[in-house]
Amino acid sequence: MMRDAAQFNPLDPGDSRVTRPAFWGALPERWTSEVEETLVCCHVWQETHDVKSFFLRSPQGRTFSFEPGQFLTLELEIDGEAINRCYTISSSPARPHTISITVKRVPGGKVSNWLHDNLRPGVSLRVLGPAGEFTCARHAAPKYLFLSAGSGVTPLMSMSRAHHDLAEDRDIVFVHSARTPDDIIFARELELIASSRANFRTSFVCERVGARTDWSGVTGFLSLPLLKLIAPDFMEREIFTCGPAPYMKAVRDLLDEAGFARERYHEESFSFETLTTQAEAPVEQPPAESSAETASFKITFAKSRREIQCGTHQTVLDAARQAGVRLASSCSQGMCGTCKVKLVSGQVDMKHSGGIRQREIDQGMALLCCSKPLSDLVVDK
Ligand SMILES: Cc1cc2nc3c(=O)[nH]c(=O)nc-3n(C[C@H](O)[C@H](O)[C@H](O)COP(=O)(O)OP(=O)(O)OC[C@H]3O[C@@H](n4cnc5c(N)ncnc54)[C@H](O)[C@@H]3O)c2cc1C
Repeated sequence: MMRDAAQFNPLDPGDSRVTRPAFWGALPERWTSEVEETLVCCHVWQETHDVKSFFLRSPQGRTFSFEPGQFLTLELEIDGEAINRCYTISSSPARPHTISITVKRVPGGKVSNWLHDNLRPGVSLRVLGPAGEFTCARHAAPKYLFLSAGSGVTPLMSMSRAHHDLAEDRDIVFVHSARTPDDIIFARELELIASSRANFRTSFVCERVGARTDWSGVTGFLSLPLLKLIAPDFMEREIFTCGPAPYMKAVRDLLDEAGFARERYHEESFSFETLTTQAEAPVEQPPAESSAETASFKITFAKSRREIQCGTHQTVLDAARQAGVRLASSCSQGMCGTCKVKLVSGQVDMKHSGGIRQREIDQGMALLCCSKPLSDLVVDK
């Protein structure tokens, strides 16, 4: 029998036009960026005036497996330029069929603005990951304190969502700082989680009230007396912090003042400047008598026809910088993949943090920011 549009009943399983998501039934295979490099945007949600969440799914209907707090690397081409950026997965690993990233517009920023202006349902992205070690999943504790500011809320939101979805028996206090009440990302969802779980409390600290006249929360900056008021037992908690560099320094200073044990403190920076500064700190020179460590290898850049020496104790990127060879790089931590190159010949000792696929390593690619030479190298640059 022919059915016309008027007779179409989306709840009728007998109607061939009823499309069923691939995940109804047995759980499909897991997504891995080794096998399937692209994801498709399936939903966009405006969180605040300058923050959007982008929901992504696998074109093959694969599910996602990650630890809450981990990030993805987007491999984009904007105006003909290859450009990589890392974004934390803000969704819960307990909802494995889609994955979300939550992006704040950075004034003058290339990728955040491109995503806000161009990423809409149906658009595909090349994605690498998940990667990262900033996760409470690796630090079991009965009590946590999550401290975040601005877009630094994303990894802690994923951890909070996981806690809620899995009905975890752990106690969490989540203190989020924002410029104004209108800048609080996920405010309603955090309040909802707090209202439905006795072991989850949330507090917002706003620099100023902004346009809102109904703000009854705290204004000012997070301080030790304020933290003691919000979480009197904070010294007993495992602490996870994410936010802009000055915020994280303020948190470290106040925890140091309180005598908090650094082993139970974990932080993640979104700022490559912070990461690069750490990475560019003077490299400890090996003792002069150790000839193995002072040895160096010849690095040849095939396209630019430059030759430099690189010590076995330093990364190829550091040696290239010292010799004035300009190479694209960003995080200096083996995370973002910006300095990925093809090695024409030679071997390196590479300690990356998820910025390269195993398949790419097998094809002779390397990240120069985290690779030390084990032989003379010829680089396709
Ligand atoms: C592990 C990790 C996780 C992250 N997770 C998130 C997340 O969940 N959400 C999120 O929003 N962000 C996240 N970030 C940050 C994100 O990766 C980007 O750094 C951020 O979106 C800005 O990128 P952009 O391309 O828009 O800005 P960029 O183009 O990198 O610019 C950044 C700033 O530098 C300025 N600038 C750029 N070029 C120049 C120049 N030549 N001279 C002077 N100034 C310049 C820009 O004006 C801008 O102010 C994360 C970062 C890391 C490392």
